[in-house]
Amino acid sequence: MTRVLVAGGGVTGLAAAHRLRTLLGPDAEIVVAEAARTLGGKLSALEVGGRRVDVGAEAFLARRPEAAARVAELGLGDQLVHPGSAASALRVGGRTVGLPPRTVMGVPGDPDVVGDALSPAGVAALRADRPGPWEPGGDVAVGALVRERLGDEVADRLVDPLLGGVYAGHADGLSVRATVPALATALDADPRSLLAAARACLPAPPVEGAPPVPVFGTLRGGLADLPATLALAARAEIRLGRTVTAVRRTAEGWRVELAAESGETAALDVDAVVLAVPPPAVRRLLADQAPGAARAAGEIELASSALVVLALPAAAAAPLAGRSGVLIGAGERRPDGLPWTIKAATFSAEKWPHLAPDTDDPEDTAVLRLSIGKYGDAASLDALRRDDPDLVSAARDDLAALTGVDAVPVESAVVRWPGGLPQYGVGHLDRVAAIEDGVAALPGLAVAGAALHGVGVPACLATADAAAERVAAHLAAVARA
Ligand SMILES: Cc1cc2nc3c(=O)[nH]c(=O)nc-3n(C[C@H](O)[C@H](O)[C@H](O)COP(=O)(O)OP(=O)(O)OC[C@H]3O[C@@H](n4cnc5c(N)ncnc54)[C@H](O)[C@@H]3O)c2cc1C
Repeated sequence: MTRVLVAGGGVTGLAAAHRLRTLLGPDAEIVVAEAARTLGGKLSALEVGGRRVDVGAEAFLARRPEAAARVAELGLGDQLVHPGSAASALRVGGRTVGLPPRTVMGVPGDPDVVGDALSPAGVAALRADRPGPWEPGGDVAVGALVRERLGDEVADRLVDPLLGGVYAGHADGLSVRATVPALATALDADPRSLLAAARACLPAPPVEGAPPVPVFGTLRGGLADLPATLALAARAEIRLGRTVTAVRRTAEGWRVELAAESGETAALDVDAVVLAVPPPAVRRLLADQAPGAARAAGEIELASSALVVLALPAAAAAPLAGRSGVLIGAGERRPDGLPWTIKAATFSAEKWPHLAPDTDDPEDTAVLRLSIGKYGDAASLDALRRDDPDLVSAARDDLAALTGVDAVPVESAVVRWPGGLPQYGVGHLDRVAAIEDGVAALPGLAVAGAALHGVGVPACLATADAAAERVAAHLAAVARA
């Protein structure tokens, strides 16, 4: 009987297990080893204020097909929901303004869309659209590219908050080619104007009167339902609290070492392995088998972050109405001159109609999420060292400074994600190529996950499918031989 080991029970590992089940059929033995005591990795939900709230990833990009397709495949189509009409905002220049529409990760294609997000000098720099050097096929930091051509304000006020929202990193440390690949490709074709390159990436404007196409989706019960459903559909043997500590090639396939929290170890012989674990684990597990791949995985930096979830009495949250959340621009200060501890706020009860409080229920709560932590930011590191009550207090102070809402929460929670988001720095795609080239020489082993071709859930699902297909093709070839 075929036996495959999947290391990592995050959404990637579970999606790989599910795809292996559909490819290999009912008889294959699929084992998922997960170091933690729960499944889901960064897809996780908690009950706060009587509502189930995602405390890791909360939504997937609906413009990519993978997540919605998987939701449908799993029979969860009736659980799919989209954000309502509340608009996102930016905190820039000491004011809260609307998030400009139709940008490519904050890079506008049209200087007229930036509204009051930029100062007159910032708009002038944007309009100047200075030409700059661009090596076709090359790579630079997003921040460097944008600062040089469109000015610092576009970088700090528009691009940095959006990139920070996805990667918990700064525009100055993230690669154009890895984080905004369409922009890099447009510049390869014509490097003269960054505004024109952004315009070339934007989808056609919506047809007047046509229903809006949702950009994001999630599941009514929380995105954390996705890994749980994948696990059931995979009909895998799930081993929780089991860390994969070694993978070694044998004459027949692979020998995997599993360590329990008690320190007890066990060996498992399998025909194939999918590694769906974060880069530090990939580095350790491939050190002997594929040293070049291991080295490249070790070069991927990780950002740490924390999320403060507040459940407020619904009536006290009324001033948040109409806003889905606020992103804080780089270098912004609070009205009292102090730096912001939070980098973003998501007013979940406003953003998601299914989380809107019941207006007839005076006890009902409005939930919101406040995010803390950006890679390479000393103040962020200091903030993340604070204990939970201190972090809640700092986040509440920021919320009050941002919105005037200072109600005592009915309940709060702090969830920390140490090393939770890989940083796609300049040269990231070379590191990914080194990992994939190294693994290509190892028959029956595949890697997948957030460190490779996108940190978002749809990209993780795509790598999971690719890994499962690689393993299935290998097993079919072995069976034929
Ligand atoms: C706070 C936060 C918010 C986010 N928000 C969004 C969002 O709204 N939308 C979106 O699309 N993306 C979001 N992301 C990104 C996205 O959630 C992640 O990139 C994605 O969930 C990663 O999934 P994964 O399975 O590859 O990795 P993980 O979720 O990290 O899963 C890997 C699993 O492997 C386990 N593991 C590690 N080492 C071993 C080992 N040696 N043996 C066995 N198991 C091991 C870990 O315990 C973990 O469970 C967010 C990320 C964070 C941190």
